[in-house]
Amino acid sequence: MEALLEVKDLTVAYHRKPVLENFNLTVQRGDIYGIIGNNGVGKTTLLKVITGLLRSDRGEVKIRLEGGKKATIGTLIEKPGLFKDMSAYENIKAKALFLGVKYAKKDVNRLLERVGLGDVGRKRTGAFSMGMKQRLGIALALVGDPDILVLDEPINGLDPQGMNEVRNLLLKIHEETGLTVLISSHILDELAKIATRFLVMGRGGKVIRNCTKEEFVQECGEENLDEYYVKLISDFSQDSVD
Ligand code: ADP
Repeated sequence: MEALLEVKDLTVAYHRKPVLENFNLTVQRGDIYGIIGNNGVGKTTLLKVITGLLRSDRGEVKIRLEGGKKATIGTLIEKPGLFKDMSAYENIKAKALFLGVKYAKKDVNRLLERVGLGDVGRKRTGAFSMGMKQRLGIALALVGDPDILVLDEPINGLDPQGMNEVRNLLLKIHEETGLTVLISSHILDELAKIATRFLVMGRGGKVIRNCTKEEFVQECGEENLDEYYVKLISDFSQDSVD
């Protein structure tokens, strides 16, 4: 099967200091890739290059559907940029207009329903809870039906209810459409409830683990995920010192 997304020998540096070096990743259609790593390992940088927000110094990112057609990406990097004096409905309309996608009233309403904001679609978004804002952010990323959804720390700062809402929404969308998702987070337990695969990144964008969620959970055994993760990355730090 041909990969939907292929990142090949990617190198990205800020002021000549490399953050990612010869980084490789292959994502199949329908994967939900949970990307884990300490602050500063280059998760956001990777996601920005994949979504085209940042240029790499070397390497390439190939995103294509079967038959060679270019796939599209929807993005939510941390918090959504919302027009807070406008309603959720108007925010979606504005995004569609910006992308040049034709969205009739029923399309906007369907999208609002999909993210569970059907009954508050006409309310000012400034008054939304964090969870509602993130769900609207995901709706905005879904405008135009992208093939890949890229979410950078979408549950950061959410309370348990907000996390629940976002998780259920992502699982529902994945079940309905088989959408491919890349999602970074350092809340491992939460990520384990969503992801089908785990990518653990270490310093310098090194790939410490790239495996199925089940393999990761099995490796972890009786230990809790956080403890196992800390051990994994400290082993890696030891290795890189030697
Ligand atoms: P993560 O998302 O894993 O926390 P980032 O990709 O945000 O990591 O950052 C990786 C490294 O690159 C960090 O050391 C960060 O300070 C640095 N960095 C990120 N963005 C910039 C920038 N615009 N200019 C300079 N350094 C940056």
